[in-house]
Amino acid sequence: MSTPTPPTKPPLLEVRNLSLSFHQQEQVAIDRVSFSITAGSTLGLVGASGAGKSSIARAIMRLIKPDSGEILFKGKNIFMMNSQQMMATRQRMQLVFQEPFTSLSPRRTIEQSLLEPLQHFAIGDTNSRQEKTRQIIQTVGLDHDVLRRYPHQLSSGQQQRIAIARALITSPDLLIADEAVASLDVSIQAQIIQLIQSLQEELGITLLFISHDLAVIRQIANDVAVMYQGQLLEQSPADTFFSKPNHPYSKTLLSFTNNKAPTSLPVENWRLDRGRTTAETTSNCVFARSCQVKMPICDQLEPASHQIQYRNQHPLGPHYVKCHLYEEVNTNDT
Ligand code: SF4
Repeated sequence: MSTPTPPTKPPLLEVRNLSLSFHQQEQVAIDRVSFSITAGSTLGLVGASGAGKSSIARAIMRLIKPDSGEILFKGKNIFMMNSQQMMATRQRMQLVFQEPFTSLSPRRTIEQSLLEPLQHFAIGDTNSRQEKTRQIIQTVGLDHDVLRRYPHQLSSGQQQRIAIARALITSPDLLIADEAVASLDVSIQAQIIQLIQSLQEELGITLLFISHDLAVIRQIANDVAVMYQGQLLEQSPADTFFSKPNHPYSKTLLSFTNNKAPTSLPVENWRLDRGRTTAETTSNCVFARSCQVKMPICDQLEPASHQIQYRNQHPLGPHYVKCHLYEEVNTNDT
């Protein structure tokens, strides 16, 4: 697990009360989600497939417009930016997808794919762009001869290294990795996680690392946010989360991971998360249907997000849990 970052630095990214429904499918994707990421740190966003994680990533990139809420990048609301300001902001935040082929054209050489974002954002001239492609290829641990190849001539691990190189070539402040290692086998996964960690240390980038796999989140995150049916159910510094999760959903996720350790956690296999439609009431706990410790109030009233109070103030950041269990008893030992 990465060392938690003290919460003294300003947040690079703030998501405030974000909501989004896909009205055609009558599906709630994001439900009043708030979090922030301290500059230079990694937030691990975990949840089952369909929990709303990728919708948050796309909203941050302003690829989709939320129904309500704000996203602040370096203190500025991205939805208030004009196209010129947004263009400049997009250069500062980049997205790496699960499938490298999504960002690599099969008809372009690797060099052409790496040059494209530099040309798009008008960074440098022909010579400096070519030099930058050679540098970034080295940075992600590949040889220069890869530049002349096409994506299909590379292994899946090499392709994902190229996708990361392409995301980093514009020197972003924020990297969003959306299931970036999910399609890789375990040994390649470990190499890519190590690469992302060393690049983060070297370049000081801030990371939103999205995964369905708590074992992966454990390796990389400073802070953890657990998502279920569009809502954040628990947010905490990673060391606190992994040693003492509070929300019943988090506890079950973690017990599953611990039983299976050191292999990964395919949360989808649980089938606890079937998503929520816009017609379904939000006047209860979204996890009530699957909760083993449900109380009568849980079907009647939606819990608020409570900050856990530690007897000795936890130095590494606040710990929030959205569960009625923590309304009365909200004090934990450190
Ligand atoms: Fe379980 Fe109730 Fe807590 Fe929801 S609010 S997680 S149903 S105890």
